[in-house]
Amino acid sequence: MTVGILALQGDFEAHARVLERLGVEWMYVKRPAELAGVDALILPGGESTTFLKFLERENFLDHLRRFADEGHALFGTCAGAILLAKEVTNPPQPSLGLVDVTVERNAYGRQVASAVRYGRSVLKEGAMEMVFIRAPVIRRVGPGVEVLAECDALPVAVEHGACLLSTFHPELTSDTTLHEHFLEMVRSREARQSRASA
Ligand code: GLN
Repeated sequence: MTVGILALQGDFEAHARVLERLGVEWMYVKRPAELAGVDALILPGGESTTFLKFLERENFLDHLRRFADEGHALFGTCAGAILLAKEVTNPPQPSLGLVDVTVERNAYGRQVASAVRYGRSVLKEGAMEMVFIRAPVIRRVGPGVEVLAECDALPVAVEHGACLLSTFHPELTSDTTLHEHFLEMVRSREARQSRASA
């Protein structure tokens, strides 16, 4: 299993360090053709508008949609989460539309734009450390979307189909819970797919 990390912009190196720690094969993906070499894809934090500019090249967005249609798992953190969301506000912008949530960009306001907070996740006992950097807020969660973590009474990590999304940066703390959960999602999908094609 090889996990791709979209490496156009943002904190892709931090995700690579987490995957190294977890002993997983990974590869940076900078061009659509490289999607053929990976089983799943992480979309890192950064600036979603800048991502969109890069993704205009070679119809990268369409290639990502096809990659998802083929059943591959995707994990978006912060700006990556904005790219996965069905609807984006403040201001509206295009997205992959794979996760049925509405996210409002830069919604924590200036004073508390970036902060370390502690929330709760169904994936672990005790508090989860969460780094928010000019993060979006999930304002609407559609049916079929499972909330995996909350912070200050707001959903901050959700799962929908083959997609995992977090508005904070799990790649910037030592807590690997979300990455491990994503790897489980990838493994169970791969196992199902190989059974189906057997
Ligand atoms: N504010 C950024 C955006 O709207 C996201 C910030 C981040 O990824 N840390 O795209």
